[in-house]
Amino acid sequence: MNRAVMNCHGQRSGLLRATGLLLAALLSACGGGSGSSSSSNNDLQLPLSAEQRQAVLRLPVVVHVLYRDEQTNISDEQIQSQLAATNQHLRALNSAELATVPEVYQPYIADARIELVLADQDPQGQPSTGITRTPYPDPVDGSCDYCTGTAAQWDPSRYINIWVGEYSTRTGRLAALGSAVAGPSSAREQWGITLEYRVFGSLEYGEPEALGWLHEDYAQGKTLTHELGHYLGLLGHIQLGEGHRLYSCDGLPDTSCSNSELTMSFMRTLQPDAELKMFSRSQADIMRHTLLNGYLQGLAQL
Ligand SMILES: [Zn+2]
Repeated sequence: MNRAVMNCHGQRSGLLRATGLLLAALLSACGGGSGSSSSSNNDLQLPLSAEQRQAVLRLPVVVHVLYRDEQTNISDEQIQSQLAATNQHLRALNSAELATVPEVYQPYIADARIELVLADQDPQGQPSTGITRTPYPDPVDGSCDYCTGTAAQWDPSRYINIWVGEYSTRTGRLAALGSAVAGPSSAREQWGITLEYRVFGSLEYGEPEALGWLHEDYAQGKTLTHELGHYLGLLGHIQLGEGHRLYSCDGLPDTSCSNSELTMSFMRTLQPDAELKMFSRSQADIMRHTLLNGYLQGLAQL
C-alpha cells in the first residue's frame, strides 16, 4: 500500500498495539532526511523557533463512537477520561510514574505542550459535543469502511478523527488495539485514529469480567497516546530499532541510536500500559514539527 511507510515501520504482524496501517512518510522521523546513510538521525535539528517550542498546541478532536450494544456505546465520561489521560501523558503530568523513570533518562522527559480538546463546533460551524454516535454492527479495522453517515470523517485539516469500536477480525478475534493513518502519502479521506473500545478511557467498564486482561493491562488510556504519537509523525516502535531520535540519542549512553534503550517510551509496542511512561524531547519536537511545519500545519489552535 505504501512502501515508504512500510519501510519505516517494518514489522507489524502480531502487534497488539499496532499501527496496522499507514503512517506519514516524514523524512526526519524515518531517518531518511539527514543525508546520512547510518541508521541514526541524531543531531538533526528541526526548524522550530523558540516561540514554536513554547506555544501550547490545542488539537480539536471528534470521537466517533461505533456501537452495536449498550456496552460498546461508551459513555461521554469514558471519552472524557481518555482525553484527560492522554493530555496528562502529553504534558508529562503523570508524575507518579515519571518518578520511576531511571535517573539517566529523567532530563529527556518531555512536556510536549500538546493538548486534545473535544471540538465545540462541527464542520458546519454548529455547536457540538465533539462526539458522534453511530450504530455499526461490524468490527472496525482501520480501513475507514465505517467513515460514512454520522461517522463520516470531519475535515482532517481541522480535526483529529478518532473512531472507537470493536477492533476485531471477522471471526471475532481481537486483531489490534488501534491504528493511525496520516501523512502525505496516505489517503486523506482515511486520516484518523481507530481504537478498540475496551482500551479507550480509564474508567471501569460495566462488565469488567467480559473485558478480561484487556482492561487489566490496558486501562490507563495509553493506546490512544501511542497511536496519537504515530498520527503526529512518530513512525517507529522503540524496540524495533526504528529511529526517531534527533539529539544525540536523547542523551542515552547507547551511541547506536537504535532507540532500544528507551524502554519506557509511549512508542514501545507489545507492552502493558504500566510500562509506557514518557515522550522524549526529540519525540515531542517531531510531533510539534508535524503540527507547526508539517502535514498537520494549521490544525492546532494556539
Ligand atoms: Zn504503534
